[in-house]
Amino acid sequence: MNLILFGPPGAGKGTQAKVLQEEGGLIQLSTGDMLRASVAAGSDLGKRCKAIMDRGDLVTDDIVVGIIAERLDQPDCANGVVFDGFPRTIAQAEALDKMLATRGASIAAVIELKVEDEALVGRVAQRSLETGGTRGDDTPETLRKRLEVYRKNTAPLLDFYRAQGKLTSVDGMAPIPEVSGAIRRILKDLKG
Ligand code: AMP
Repeated sequence: MNLILFGPPGAGKGTQAKVLQEEGGLIQLSTGDMLRASVAAGSDLGKRCKAIMDRGDLVTDDIVVGIIAERLDQPDCANGVVFDGFPRTIAQAEALDKMLATRGASIAAVIELKVEDEALVGRVAQRSLETGGTRGDDTPETLRKRLEVYRKNTAPLLDFYRAQGKLTSVDGMAPIPEVSGAIRRILKDLKG
């Protein structure tokens, strides 16, 4: 089963994707993590993306669609993946539908983590403390930019997936185990 965890920066997508990976055997595919690994490795791709990421903009659709397509072909993804931070534009969502269709797969559900803006600011500040500021984009200024980009480019995907009948929302303000519980119930319903 392939899922998308959806929500603004700091909503808890990464945290819940890890729970789904540990409990459900789904593979977490975080384009943010993959891009940060490229930056850390100093690869050409990383060099092209670093400044864009640091200022809170989106890297090009071609880049992220390319890295997801490559990763999806690895055998561990065959049993299902949870997309975390991808897709972030309509073009990415359309490319994802196509690449899954050519592999005989599809998105089973899109789970939106609903979190108020004020809480996001606090959570990202907390993450910055916990990671010792290793994420250059976890500053209040860059978060503002990332939220703006989220609203403009990414939030329209909610309608895209609602129209496909795939969107469900959970209260992302609840404590982590409760959010995990709500997601577990959605998956149980999906499996019937
Ligand atoms: P994240 O860890 O998901 O918050 O992503 C960190 C940064 O990586 C974003 O602010 C973007 O610059 C870049 N990024 C991650 N995923 C995508 C995506 N699907 N499309 C474009 N840029 C992305």
